[in-house]
Amino acid sequence: MYWGTHACLPVLTVTTIDTLRVSRQQPRLITNKQLWLIALAALLPDILSPHFSIADRHSSWTHTLWFLGGILPVILILSKWLVKTNWQWLAFYCYLASCIHVFLDGIAGGVSFLYPMEGVFGDYYVPWKYWIYSDVGFILMTRLMLFILNRKVKQQRLD
Ligand SMILES: [Zn+2]
Repeated sequence: MYWGTHACLPVLTVTTIDTLRVSRQQPRLITNKQLWLIALAALLPDILSPHFSIADRHSSWTHTLWFLGGILPVILILSKWLVKTNWQWLAFYCYLASCIHVFLDGIAGGVSFLYPMEGVFGDYYVPWKYWIYSDVGFILMTRLMLFILNRKVKQQRLD
């Protein structure tokens, strides 16, 4: 999948959850600025190991179980360092975003989850020709949900 889907799917998930929370008069867990960190975490596997061919992805160290295990403490430490309140939620969503990245690549060509051990997990369940439509759809849905969330927060402040 392309970066639009990778970045927006976790951000859409978080903004949807926060929109539901705000609708129930509960505070947001994640701020708008923190959404950028979640998007960054979602792109981390490709930023740290850029790849253009499927063969490169299948030999990428950042699309493995070992990488997902290794970044967990890093994300926990960085989240606690960067954020005073709700740092656990930021850490959880950032980690989830990186996991979603590997999952999405798994259904869009497969990943070598246990690299350098043999074996590719997944396949082209989502063919390449649909990736751009996925990007456009997720970017628009995320923008819409963010608009709804910010509007509800504004209304809540006025009430
Ligand atoms: Zn990737």
